[in-house]
Amino acid sequence: MCELALLHGKGYSYSAYCRCERGRSALKLDLHCHSHFSDGKHAPRELLEFAAGQELSYLAITDHDSVDAHMTIAAHRGYPNLLPGVEISCNWQGQELHVLGLLIDIHDEQLSQLLDRQQRARRERMDSMDRRLAALGIHGLAEHFKHQHCVAQTRSYVADFLIQEGVCKNRAKAFKRFLGRRGKAYVAIEWCSLAEAVARIVASGGIAVLAHPGRYPIGRLKLQSLLSEFAHVGGEAMEVSYGNLDPLQLKKLASLALEHSLYASMGSDFHDASAHWTGIGKFPSLPQESMKNAIWEHPRWHQFTSGTTGR
Ligand SMILES: [Zn+2]
Ligand SMILES: [Zn+2]
Repeated sequence: MCELALLHGKGYSYSAYCRCERGRSALKLDLHCHSHFSDGKHAPRELLEFAAGQELSYLAITDHDSVDAHMTIAAHRGYPNLLPGVEISCNWQGQELHVLGLLIDIHDEQLSQLLDRQQRARRERMDSMDRRLAALGIHGLAEHFKHQHCVAQTRSYVADFLIQEGVCKNRAKAFKRFLGRRGKAYVAIEWCSLAEAVARIVASGGIAVLAHPGRYPIGRLKLQSLLSEFAHVGGEAMEVSYGNLDPLQLKKLASLALEHSLYASMGSDFHDASAHWTGIGKFPSLPQESMKNAIWEHPRWHQFTSGTTGR
């Protein structure tokens, strides 16, 4: 579960798996998940095995501010069902947002520079958090990170470290006492702007997708203004379905996507197989009203999956 879900999310358990009809063939997709290069627990190959087990047509690995999973896999052999992706943290009016870049060019120079900058900001934040924890008598965070695969460091790792050290019982408590905005070890971080994240994704040939819009602690009016601005700066899609989503919210998000002329995307936001309420491919199906603006109707999707460009 991502940091935003830990801070603001309301859990809702699903056993349904997404199945999307396109023409006569059924597509089973998951366009949002994390490997151990950010805050997921599994290697990219394990994610591909889970996807094969669920008979997914396509899987996008979308690590926080990192495309290392794709670099690693590309170095070994091609997986035609794996789609390139990333999840970029950004700032909009003081609120941290996540924007997915799907079907990006993972070798795009300007996108790589942005991801490097974000990873550096994350490392600096963790160094500061390490110093704050040390001042509270809790030592060893830097050492803990040395044993992880992640290139994009997140507060979830700090939470796990605090649990491992016997300081906190679970991640929620770690965020409340130490890592959330009012926590004793909290350190702010400067993300790129929403406009920059979207611009870099689009310039690399990708589709910018607003991730999990219902998880941000903003009211309906502010969400409307966010979606208007997101579309205005070049965002083309929003997640309408994701893991732990309330069924009423699914309907609301489907109509918001139509209202703002955004394509409807979907994904589990899977991180960890030991968390049994989540799984690759596990989230509610898109509602019927999202069929005409579903992401597989985007021209870039057609180009990419038919192999005419981007491969
Ligand atoms: Zn996210
Ligand atoms: Zn995510």
